[in-house]
Amino acid sequence: AYVIAQPCVDVKDKACIEECPVDCIYEGPRKMYIQPDECVDCGACEPVCPVEAVYYEDNVPAEWADYAAADRGFFVEL
Ligand code: SF4
Repeated sequence: AYVIAQPCVDVKDKACIEECPVDCIYEGPRKMYIQPDECVDCGACEPVCPVEAVYYEDNVPAEWADYAAADRGFFVEL
């Protein structure tokens, strides 16, 4: 699945939502979240993010590695 990392925090541009073919990007209090079980790995959201917050889960920069768990955890808590 794709992951939305730290650059989205307090930005929430939402350009990604327009591109997602399965509507699996949801708004949280401070960032957007990708529902990993619904994401089909199409990659459409990644290039449209103006702050480059979106990464494939294997390509998340090390300093933001915990954001993959954060995205998954957000939906567990719902
Ligand atoms: Fe949606 Fe595709 Fe981005 Fe997954 S990779 S969140 S399916 S736009």
